[in-house]
Amino acid sequence: MKKIAILGSTGSIGTQTLEVVRENKDIKVLGLAAGSNIELLEKQIREFSPKVVAVWKEEKAKELKTKIADLDVRVVSGMDGLIEVSVLEDVEILVTAIVGMIGIRPTVEAIRAGKDIALANKETLVTAGHIIMPLAKENHVSILPVDSEHSAIFQSLQGNDHGAIHKILLTASGGPFRGKKEEDLLNIRVEDALKHPNWAMGQKITIDSSTMVNKGLEVIEAKWLFGVDVDRVQVVVQPQSIIHSMVEYVDGAIMAELGTPDMKLPIQYALYYPERRFLPGERLDFWSLGKLDFEKPDMDTFYGLALAYEAGRVGGSLPTVFNAANELAVSKFLKREIKYLEIIEIIEDCMRAHKNIENPTLEEIFMTEAATYERIESRR
Ligand code: NAD
Ligand code: MG
Repeated sequence: MKKIAILGSTGSIGTQTLEVVRENKDIKVLGLAAGSNIELLEKQIREFSPKVVAVWKEEKAKELKTKIADLDVRVVSGMDGLIEVSVLEDVEILVTAIVGMIGIRPTVEAIRAGKDIALANKETLVTAGHIIMPLAKENHVSILPVDSEHSAIFQSLQGNDHGAIHKILLTASGGPFRGKKEEDLLNIRVEDALKHPNWAMGQKITIDSSTMVNKGLEVIEAKWLFGVDVDRVQVVVQPQSIIHSMVEYVDGAIMAELGTPDMKLPIQYALYYPERRFLPGERLDFWSLGKLDFEKPDMDTFYGLALAYEAGRVGGSLPTVFNAANELAVSKFLKREIKYLEIIEIIEDCMRAHKNIENPTLEEIFMTEAATYERIESRR
């Protein structure tokens, strides 16, 4: 039995991770953590019998305790609760399927406790990659990518020497607004941006995919996972989302991973690496597919991607500003407090105002996050 814990078990990646667990029958879930959906969390507890469960808000944790009073499960809350689940004894792999920089502390603590990380929570790596990657090395811990593109790169690297990477070809669907120009984006509503052509995901990442900020975060994520400069990561728009990403080697050979878009594949690959398991589901049929298309990304219209390259190139605390500004701006857009194009305007404004810290400590990362939020709250 492989033993795991999941941060963000009620979300898109969390529930798909539990589907993989359900199919395979040889993974034991020891810990779960979620934000506020205690109805779903209760069902998960009754099905998977974890030892410890964390709920972010204390009132919700209390409510859950009453609901599961008949079970022997410890319910914890807040950041201490998240960390308790992350460092649980006997857990081998922590699946980080929580959204945002809130994942930094739990991830760091899990690595210190010797847990391998199946990483979906890209915001953590974007902001604290310079701390996480050396820490993982020091603790002999693996960071296994769950993000489909990074899993594809990881799979394309098997059996090859990292030193022979010429560049990484990071594919992008282009999102729901591919081909649109700035004037077409002026009055985008929340419901328009929440329609992704190929993937069903959580709200925040769906908005990020529409602005291409998600691809920008992934460029920086690739820099940390595979040790390449951002300028050696080339974004290629592949609208069908069939090629999940590629690696070009020094001899010109290109290795890719292809398949129907299904997050269960990268999740399962991370949980069982290096083993490959049977995965039920639709298979790619080249006869009916017919063709694949490729495009250059439009970084003038979707200049959030250009800002991400800048943040990744400069490094230090600038990626934290890029990410934190995006997190708050997206939550404001989802609450209909700002217009769609303001998301990127806000990110740019915060980046321009920032005085970069070269090698920020965790404290400095959180201070940068707070200062970025303050700047956004005080605009207008
Ligand atoms: P989601 O919104 O569907 O789920 C987020 C989960 O995190 C929920 O279970 C929520 O309860 C939990 N959560 C949020 N705040 C919390 C808190 N303070 N304490 C405890 N739990 C909290 O998001 P998602 O789409 O599953 O994405 C999760 C992460 O995976 C993100 O970083 C995203 O970028 C990344 N990712 C997602 C996909 C995808 O297909 N959904 C693909 C690649 C990467
Ligand atoms: Mg992705």
